[in-house]
Amino acid sequence: MANSQVTMESHHSSMFESVLARLDAAAKLMNLSEDVAKVLRKPLKEVIVSLPVMMDNGKVEVFQGYRTVHSTTLGPSKGGIRFAMDVCTDEVNALAAWMSFKCAVAHLPYGGAKGGVKCDPRKMSVGELERMTRAYTKAMADIFGVNKDIPAPDMGTSGREMAWLLDEYNKIKGEDCPGVVTGKPIVLGGSLGRDAATGRGVMISVLEALKKLNLDPKKVSAAVQGFGNVGAHAARLIAEQGIKIVAISDHTAAFHNENGIDIKAALDFAANNGKVLKGFKGGTEISNEDLLTCKCDVLIPAAIQNVITEEIAPRIHAKLIVEGANGPTTPEADHILKEKKIIVVPDILANGGGVTVSYFEWVQNKYGHYWTEEEVNHKHDLSMKTAFNNVWNAADEFKTTMRIGAYIAALRKIEQGVKFKGNY
Ligand code: NAD
Repeated sequence: MANSQVTMESHHSSMFESVLARLDAAAKLMNLSEDVAKVLRKPLKEVIVSLPVMMDNGKVEVFQGYRTVHSTTLGPSKGGIRFAMDVCTDEVNALAAWMSFKCAVAHLPYGGAKGGVKCDPRKMSVGELERMTRAYTKAMADIFGVNKDIPAPDMGTSGREMAWLLDEYNKIKGEDCPGVVTGKPIVLGGSLGRDAATGRGVMISVLEALKKLNLDPKKVSAAVQGFGNVGAHAARLIAEQGIKIVAISDHTAAFHNENGIDIKAALDFAANNGKVLKGFKGGTEISNEDLLTCKCDVLIPAAIQNVITEEIAPRIHAKLIVEGANGPTTPEADHILKEKKIIVVPDILANGGGVTVSYFEWVQNKYGHYWTEEEVNHKHDLSMKTAFNNVWNAADEFKTTMRIGAYIAALRKIEQGVKFKGNY
């Protein structure tokens, strides 16, 4: 490709470069138009704002807020808001691009975006978080819009922050605009099933992949990294399918139990322990690295990016990796996993359940009519299965990995969109 500076062999310290490495690999295989590749290699819009917030100690702290819109080819841009210390332009741009591809893989009429604030939400009071979320919303009010750019929760944010965001946005616009944000509390127009949706999509991805591998879920073991929204729901839902969870972790601790961890007990423990696993008695304490390399059939990274590296990949025992988190595997590790014939269900497919139900929430908000949880789950499961099989078939057609197959499936759609819409 003409302006490709990045090869799959080089080292990727930048997350956005990791995106480009996969984009370039897929583009080459499918013979993507160079014009389209050029468009997708640059985010459409990058916004950085300063957010002065009055802290509880009476002093002002100035936080840096970000929003990147990567693409609006297939519809308004969609993407979560992350509150974390590593939020920066490179990370937000990568996550925004992944949203463009994820929405295309899931057949949603959306482009991709992502936002965040560089902060440590665990060290902030509820009042400080509310003032910061409102300041962020005010600063981004011209970027967001029901038919323009629609945020949602991501790491460090939840329905609570989305409710503050909605309230602030409504005040600025002078009307109720529930469709401007998804992942809201149910009473404010949220969708039933949204909270568990990303974990549910991970569960569907696991089951579909096991089917392809001819493995019976009741004879399979799994390790799950991360016990937040994605990891905890995924662990609970796959355990309900009879899969034995042998290891779980969060940022405070990791636990192993070869007889299977009682996930309900872990959920109850975390609920009564400040949402963390430290001190859980249902397994032996191990390191997060041991979790990634432990003996299991399915590995589910559902915490943070860049955990499956070229150092870790050679030691992975799992036959199947299902990426709940965004960007958990580096491009260098991808090569090793491919050599080892480990199947990786990539993030842009496996964690697409969240944005799929966010889309259902947005549709319900526009429609002013709400579905039952069964309806939501049924539509979600169908949509995830279709996406999984499309990606599987694309990978098969091009004799490549599911990751590159997923990029190909996405790029095919976006390429058509760019061509139909035309250029300046
Ligand atoms: P969350 O904040 O609810 O949970 C994150 C979990 O990861 C927590 O249990 C935390 O303790 C753990 N963690 C953090 N650092 C860790 C470390 N170094 N080692 C082990 N565990 C660690 O976030 P979430 O919403 O569950 O998001 C997790 C990942 O899934 C992120 O990559 C996010 O972008 C992605 N994702 C989330 C959604 C969603 O709907 N929430 C959708 C798609 C993708």
